[in-house]
Amino acid sequence: MEDQSFPECQAQELFDEFVSASTCRAAMRSFSQLCEHLQLDPSTAERPLYRPIKRRLNYWRANGLWAKLDRRGAQEEYQRARACSDVTCVIIGAGPCGLRTAVELSFMGARVVLLEKRDTFSRNNVLHLWPFTIHDLRGLGAKKFYGRFCAGSIDHISIRQLQLVLLKVALLLGVEVHVNVEFKKLVEPAEDQHRHKLGWRMEVSPKNHPVSQLEFDVIIGADGRRNTLPGFRRKEFRGKLAIAITANFKNRNTTAEAKVEEISGVAFIFNQRFFQELRQETGIDLENIVYYKDDTHYFVMTAKKQSLLEKGVILQDFADTELLLSRGNVDQNALQAYAREAADFSTNHQLPALDFAMNHYGQPDVAMFDFTCMYASENAAMVRQRHGHQLLVTLVGDSLLEPFWPMGTGVARGFLAALDSAWMIRSWAQGAAPLDVLAERESLYRLLPQTTPENMQKNITLYSVDPTTRYMNTSPLTLLTWCQEQTCGYHGVN
Ligand code: FAD
Repeated sequence: MEDQSFPECQAQELFDEFVSASTCRAAMRSFSQLCEHLQLDPSTAERPLYRPIKRRLNYWRANGLWAKLDRRGAQEEYQRARACSDVTCVIIGAGPCGLRTAVELSFMGARVVLLEKRDTFSRNNVLHLWPFTIHDLRGLGAKKFYGRFCAGSIDHISIRQLQLVLLKVALLLGVEVHVNVEFKKLVEPAEDQHRHKLGWRMEVSPKNHPVSQLEFDVIIGADGRRNTLPGFRRKEFRGKLAIAITANFKNRNTTAEAKVEEISGVAFIFNQRFFQELRQETGIDLENIVYYKDDTHYFVMTAKKQSLLEKGVILQDFADTELLLSRGNVDQNALQAYAREAADFSTNHQLPALDFAMNHYGQPDVAMFDFTCMYASENAAMVRQRHGHQLLVTLVGDSLLEPFWPMGTGVARGFLAALDSAWMIRSWAQGAAPLDVLAERESLYRLLPQTTPENMQKNITLYSVDPTTRYMNTSPLTLLTWCQEQTCGYHGVN
């Protein structure tokens, strides 16, 4: 007998508070109050955690969500939450990809500990969603947490809303989330003063945080483009100079704003007249522009250097892009004016007021980024071995493959890599040989940069953690070819 002893009304209030929480801190707080109230300790309770919550919380409003999670949890690959039940995984970073990986691993019954160095989700910028990501998120109950999720034909979401939705799902599944904890480095297996053999651990900040005592089998780098896990070499793709500008304007949700049409991506080659008129009338020279109406009016555009110089946004010309876009070489007021004028022209002057939304620092939310050099990790995973302890190390999201924002590929390929990594961890948990596990992971990673909604399996309702449900061609690399190409996938020192 588990239920009955909890004042139901208070539990329901706490549940409602959690579902509607609009910040990371509020979601974490209301969830821990809910667990306390229901006398559940997420680190020791049955996984997925929502099941004991469901038994203790008799609340009609929660039923729709439980039904969704039950349906997802019934996928056969999860083996009723037993596929990874002996594995402890650490994930670095609560961005969309770290959180999505955490969700998948929890459905398979793994113990998942997620570290996030911040306790705020503050990015207004908007991510394009492919049809499968929309279907995936709906299946995880996104609409229950965020009623406006992909209303009608809308196929995008702000980064912070996406993080919030996934954080809530992850918490309900039992992921142990530690905010304000920064991963610093791996600690190799050793013996403690009582001659107990300790496995792989990590150093974090703050230093004495209990999570630094945790021993784990798998670690996943989901900490964005500045990946902190050592050992992964990066390839650099140097293209022609590409300067992206993002800008967010306040959305007051008026009728006039609602009427303005979104621009889901116009490139110069498809609409030369538009870009020529823009240049003639304003002096702004762009290669492409995207406009999404979300919590904010979000614009991302690629601007030509010459026009940024002529409009006084960039003060001095330098061949080195780091110098070119350095803080001291950019006039922030001119940048704001440039972004506002481009937004105004491209929406046919129909947005009534173009007031900037504020960013995390309380400044107008406009920024300029260099996409001339894009990075990708050479490998998706490796196995490290010390003193008989193996550790599976893998990367997902921007740490693995940096996306070009105006093309909107980031979160879709990020979710694919999250699922591929979870699949690898599943094989690992089920005892497959390390080299086989790595070879399969690398062969899938080779498909990733080419994926588009068009060249993937058509039936998105069948997508699961199993790669054959998602990719058309998953013929594995032969182990021999792969081993011949590798120098660093398996680090074994005993
Ligand atoms: P991220 O979303 O970058 O998340 C990484 C997380 O790891 C962060 O929460 C970070 O705080 C945390 N972290 C980092 N280091 C540590 C550590 N040592 N310990 C613990 N936690 C750590 N994409 C677009 O398509 N369009 C855009 O307009 C756009 N704007 C962006 C603006 C900014 C400022 C940034 C950083 C990214 C933007 N992106 C944009 C990229 C997009 O956010 C990512 O592709 C997407 O969020 C998936 O990334 P991720 O989960 O791999 O990493």
